[in-house]
Amino acid sequence: MVAQSSCARFARAFSSVRVRLLLFFALTWLGVASLLVFLLYEGRHEAERKAESDALGASALLVGRLEVTMRRIQGDLEHLAASLPHDALKPGAGARFRQGIVSELAYYSGRFPEILGYRVIDASGNLLYAQDASLSPVSLSDRSYFRVFVESSDRSLFFSEVQLDRLSGRSSLMLALPVRDDAGGLLGVVAAPLDIGNLSQMLETLDIGQNGAVAVRRIDTGGLVLRRPFVPELLNQPALNNPLQMRLAAGERFGANRLRLAIDGVERIYGFRRVGDYPLYVTTGLATADFLAGWHQTFAMAGVAALLLFLSLSLLLIRLLRAEREAELTASRLMESEARYRMLAENSHDVIWTLDIPSRTYTYVSPAIKEMSGYLPEETVGQPLDVRLTPDSAARAARDIDQRLRRIAAGDKAASVVVSELEQVRKDGEVITTEVVSSYLLDADGVAQTILGITRNVSERKAVESALRETNRQLHARIEEIGRLQVALQELAVRDSLTGLYNRRYLDETLEREVSRARREGIPLSLVMLDIDHFKQVNDTYGHQVGDEVLRILASTLSADIRAEDVACRYGGEEFLILLPNMPLETTMLRAQGWRSAVEALSVKHGNFQITFTISLGVAAYPEHGKTPDDLTRCADQALYRAKNEGRNQVSVFFD
Ligand code: GH3
Ligand code: MG
Ligand code: MG
Repeated sequence: MVAQSSCARFARAFSSVRVRLLLFFALTWLGVASLLVFLLYEGRHEAERKAESDALGASALLVGRLEVTMRRIQGDLEHLAASLPHDALKPGAGARFRQGIVSELAYYSGRFPEILGYRVIDASGNLLYAQDASLSPVSLSDRSYFRVFVESSDRSLFFSEVQLDRLSGRSSLMLALPVRDDAGGLLGVVAAPLDIGNLSQMLETLDIGQNGAVAVRRIDTGGLVLRRPFVPELLNQPALNNPLQMRLAAGERFGANRLRLAIDGVERIYGFRRVGDYPLYVTTGLATADFLAGWHQTFAMAGVAALLLFLSLSLLLIRLLRAEREAELTASRLMESEARYRMLAENSHDVIWTLDIPSRTYTYVSPAIKEMSGYLPEETVGQPLDVRLTPDSAARAARDIDQRLRRIAAGDKAASVVVSELEQVRKDGEVITTEVVSSYLLDADGVAQTILGITRNVSERKAVESALRETNRQLHARIEEIGRLQVALQELAVRDSLTGLYNRRYLDETLEREVSRARREGIPLSLVMLDIDHFKQVNDTYGHQVGDEVLRILASTLSADIRAEDVACRYGGEEFLILLPNMPLETTMLRAQGWRSAVEALSVKHGNFQITFTISLGVAAYPEHGKTPDDLTRCADQALYRAKNEGRNQVSVFFD
């Protein structure tokens, strides 16, 4: 169980991009680092192998040259030993042989710059012949290369330690061979001192680097014969504990070894080789510091390169990790905001939906659709656009989408949001009115792929709106009615209630206006004032109500016989005044006569009685009789008065 869960944890951790990045980085770095280490190791190894082979090569070169030299010296010494007349070695024989032998010695040594001259020593150790010797006698009986042959019967070539040559005064290595009689008795010694200075020059020709060392040593003790760099105190110093020495003593003829010798403390790779069968060997040591200098440079460069690589990889890694973190944050923010919007959509009272334009099908519908239409979201998602619309609304919606897509394609940004009213059919068959806000969502290429819509049931609002409209209409009707009533009321204010004619107040205003107009336009204006004759009697005889009836009949008779522009009004009691704009006096007289005779012909029925009556009329005209309303009225009144006086039932005109 535990193993399983830790396994799952590991799998989860590995699946994290961050961990994978870190692993990739670590592996890359490890890979590059191991490759570098391997290459550096190989490089170092290769440098060491080359140094070893160079050291061996240099030793072999030197050995070759030394061997040739030794062999020739040995040959010469052997030849000398064999060719020297035994008599020439006897004490006192010098003078006889000297010239011949000395010139022969000179001949031999002349071919060898390496040797300081051949020497012949007698059995007592005295120098007999030497091409470079002074004539004074020199005893060499204490020298090792003489003593060795006295003390043993050895016949082989002897190599002395490095010593100062008594004749030349120079450092030399003496090679010596005995001359013996047949019984083995020592007759003398032939010797050749090898010039250490000359040999040293030979070492100089070798390329051993700045800290290299070349040495020639004796095999028996390791005693130093030659060395570069030259250290005089070290000459003849034995080297018994030197590992090279031990290997040679053990019989090896050549080989290599890495060593740090106590002489100078420098670590070197030494190649050693024995000089033929002679008791000498050569060591060439190449200093590690020299032959690894190039490698060290490479190492430093590789180190810097590795460091740079590490730094740039780290930088890259940090960038990638940051980018990854950013991406993670963005993703989580996106999830958060999506959750937020989803929550809004899921809890909205309006239906929120998306429609895929190419297929014209719903891709998302929020839960509010259940309340609005009775259908579940899953019953609508995947369905075509018109699935819940009335046929008329469906056709309108399809047309609108086509048209908007064309406008959007033409670059009309305003076309991407639209509010429309569509009718939908609920599951229970009820048709509801909805308000739909559609937003066309464009992809990166500016092509509309999705419509995001919000649908709201506005049926109730519509019902309220129509009720409101009806109320409004009724209100307007009432207002119109009131207007009409107001007009009527205004009319009433200027009318006389009994007869329906204009009242005195209206006449005053109108007369004023008409006199002004007549004056302004230069047109005539006439006034007719009339009064019922003996009206009191009518009242008295038939009653006041019959009097009123008479008044009404007179008023309607007059109204029926005037022009539209004429104004008839009840001036007071049973007195009337008629204003006749733009009518001259003569015509007015005729009209007044007409009214008089019309009234005279009237007959008002009252029960079994036929009531008749007459009127008297006075006429005044503008501008003949007066130029102001008051003047004109007064003139008409005076004319009426005259008509009464002259017998009633007649028309009278004003005159002064
Ligand atoms: P005349 O004019 O011919 O001289 O005689 P008259 O009888 O008509 O005399 P007057 O003009 O002075 O009389 C006016 C009468 O009219 C007095 C009054 O009773 C009557 N009258 C005035 N107003 C009304 C009214 O509104 N209704 C009735 N029925 N009678 C009215
Ligand atoms: Mg009167
Ligand atoms: Mg009267």
